[in-house]
Amino acid sequence: MTVVLKVTPQELKKLAQHYTTIPQTDLPKGTYFQAKIPGVSITGYNSGKVMFQGKLAQQEAERWQTLDSVKTQQTNNVRQLQKASNLPTNFASLAVIGSDEVGTGSYFGPLTTAAVFVDAERQPTLQKLGVEDSKKLTDPTIIKIAKQVMATCPYHVVNIKPLDYNRLIKQYNQAQLKAICHNYVLGKVIQKIAPQTPDALLVDQFVKPQTYFNYLKDQSPIISHNVYFKEKGESYHLAVAAASIVARYVSLQTMDELSATAGMTLPIGAGSKVDQIAAKLLHDGKNLGQFAKLHFANTRKAIQLAKQL
Ligand code: MG
Repeated sequence: MTVVLKVTPQELKKLAQHYTTIPQTDLPKGTYFQAKIPGVSITGYNSGKVMFQGKLAQQEAERWQTLDSVKTQQTNNVRQLQKASNLPTNFASLAVIGSDEVGTGSYFGPLTTAAVFVDAERQPTLQKLGVEDSKKLTDPTIIKIAKQVMATCPYHVVNIKPLDYNRLIKQYNQAQLKAICHNYVLGKVIQKIAPQTPDALLVDQFVKPQTYFNYLKDQSPIISHNVYFKEKGESYHLAVAAASIVARYVSLQTMDELSATAGMTLPIGAGSKVDQIAAKLLHDGKNLGQFAKLHFANTRKAIQLAKQL
């Protein structure tokens, strides 16, 4: 299979840097770089064309199609965009790092993002543990399974507690903060499993891939090689289900800590119960920003309620 991309001079340089480690000499006329990775040969031409050849050509080319400058040049092509979200065949049996986060819709508590590596060898163990969509599992089951997942699989968690969250959310919107967290934990797990490399990475999708990568503009490194996105990611690979369980476990622990500090049980979600508890905290003279994501509308409601206490 052959796939040809047309890229800008800057992108061409970027691709060359990505695929080659030493300056190349003796290249055929018009050739900017040549490289070979398992399953694909890549040739970049001075004209800005980059040719991917081999059985994994499509897959390899697609990762560059998510880059902004490449996209603007060559994809108002809807079919190509759809392809970029298609998973490789036998995806569920591949060695995958999956990532998911919890806490974005909850006023109290942290934003917790986890990535977990699951290969074919570890799959039966996770299946026996009952790893599945964390939303379907009770808290005690989450705790039990998460501990075993963490003992079995390489993983990384970033747990942003409210005080830090409230500072960061002034700088980033919530989706951007999530993207940065996913990128970070994926990179950490890649480091942890090296020199082994995953077949693919699957992000439980919350924005379009191009938006995700736009959000990561200032991050380093940007994890983009073999990254796929799926809503309900847990139904495509156990790694996402495992990540979701680990994230929920760490989030639960933090909720317990925060509840202990607050001297009352902090509920999850963003409903009226939450407003009442927040009002009580304010009434007690507590720093709400230590417990809650202040940019939620609940803050305003809580301030109103507190006046009536
Ligand atoms: Mg999710």
